[in-house]
Amino acid sequence: MTYERIVVLGGGTAGWMTAAALATGLKGTTVELVESEDIGIVGVGEATFPSIRAYHQILGIPEADFLRATNGTYKLGIKFRDWRVRGEDYYHTFGDFGQLDGPNALWGQYRRHVNAGLPAFGEQCLPTVMALNDRFCAPGKDAAHFNYAYHFDANLYARFLRDIAIGRGVRRTEGKVVDVARRQDGGVASLKLDDGRVVGADLFIDCSGFTSLLLGRTLGEPFVDFSRWLPVDRAWACPSARVGTGLTPYTRATALDAGWAWRIPLQDRTGNGHVFSTRFIDEDKAREQLLQQLDGEALAEPRLLRFTTGHRARFWSHNVVGIGLATGFLEPLESTSIYLVQVGIGRLMTLLQRGGAVPAAAIDAYNTGLVRQFERIRDFILMHYCLTARRDTPFWTAMAATELPETLAYKLHAWRQTGALHQYEEEGFDGHSWLAIHAGMHHWPERSDPTFNQLPAEKSLEWVRERARQLAEAVAPVSTHEAYLAQVLGR
Ligand SMILES: Cc1cc2nc3c(=O)[nH]c(=O)nc-3n(C[C@H](O)[C@H](O)[C@H](O)COP(=O)(O)OP(=O)(O)OC[C@H]3O[C@@H](n4cnc5c(N)ncnc54)[C@H](O)[C@@H]3O)c2cc1C
Repeated sequence: MTYERIVVLGGGTAGWMTAAALATGLKGTTVELVESEDIGIVGVGEATFPSIRAYHQILGIPEADFLRATNGTYKLGIKFRDWRVRGEDYYHTFGDFGQLDGPNALWGQYRRHVNAGLPAFGEQCLPTVMALNDRFCAPGKDAAHFNYAYHFDANLYARFLRDIAIGRGVRRTEGKVVDVARRQDGGVASLKLDDGRVVGADLFIDCSGFTSLLLGRTLGEPFVDFSRWLPVDRAWACPSARVGTGLTPYTRATALDAGWAWRIPLQDRTGNGHVFSTRFIDEDKAREQLLQQLDGEALAEPRLLRFTTGHRARFWSHNVVGIGLATGFLEPLESTSIYLVQVGIGRLMTLLQRGGAVPAAAIDAYNTGLVRQFERIRDFILMHYCLTARRDTPFWTAMAATELPETLAYKLHAWRQTGALHQYEEEGFDGHSWLAIHAGMHHWPERSDPTFNQLPAEKSLEWVRERARQLAEAVAPVSTHEAYLAQVLGR
């Protein structure tokens, strides 16, 4: 069967991102989006991953227009505070650390001179040095390569994309779905709205958020629960007033007693949230801890969000494709939800653009690919917790003792034994990202490879120190994040 008529259910970030992409890339297909103002959207999800820039490029969205419309700022990565031990921090930015293996791998010299008072490993990564100094500039064509993402107001982003999608022909239908009619083959035939209207289609994209109305509730697709590895299950979210003049070009993630708190700088305010596990702290105490974290006045009452980490067993079943929270949620530590939305959209578009019916084998491959993406990111997030040296609360003691999925256990083993940054298929994060966390958590290989000793000790120390000096010098003339943003916005 071909898909002449596609209905997207849900007008959150996932729904409008999908609708805008379909309207841009699929000519001749009717796209309708059904959403309910009464239900509303999650409206958090303010930090992103660099892949969002590719999405904007494909849709032809100018960066300045997007930043203006969403109160957006630039994001070089994440600063992790108190994750290994209290009082210590490290960065994971979207940059690189030179060679990852062989005698010239920088980490090898750090492993060799572990107690020699070298600059922090992060100081060997250009965007981290920028983050440390609140600087930002987009990478030039000739400059060292690094990547970046954005922070933005999720409510404004959905509205911004809605206008683009509608401008490209998407029909918006306001209404609450109260019933779903099925086809004989088990697929979805149509949606019934609360005012009696019926909306039919060949293909339904379920972007209904945590309710997973089509994929979960209607088709009964089972949920694969990750909470034995990622036990956080609630978040309090609360905006606060911006204080001071500085604008950090990074998200801050501070480890607390039973979870962690995010701090996301926007142009007009700061986004904050506390992600926690109710197995280890109650909601009231977690709310109190969030309010203690704010560095400006709270601008609204904190809002509670409930979730379970994991994903639907399949993302595409019958004529329903789930995208966004309707398919699952990992937890926002590495800002990967919108990235996963994009992976789904990209693969769906590739299949639909070929025209004709999508064969069962391609749907199976779509499902396997998305499941693997979730598993890889689960492992990456879990690594931030399980390498902790903290034992000061029951939560951290439990996280350090977590029985790991074998995929992650093998990766940590390979690194400890030989310094290999093992990568599976469908990885969301490359070796440099994994290395940033290993180094930040002081998790070095147990054996020092003899090839690292080929360079005389003094020379290698000088090389490492000189590299950090050069990066500091390169960053010194770069404008502050605030000044760069003002220039891009024309202010
Ligand atoms: C605490 C928290 C922090 C997060 N932080 C980040 C982050 O930093 N970075 C990141 O990338 N992601 C983050 N996310 C995830 C991010 O918020 C979501 O991936 C993103 O907003 C997409 O949500 P969605 O569109 O799938 O769902 P929603 O925003 O919930 O949208 C669902 C839509 O479905 C509609 N709907 C539902 N039921 C019906 C019905 N019966 N009839 C009609 N319409 C219906 C609703 O009206 C709404 O329009 C976070 C999530 C949480 C919970």
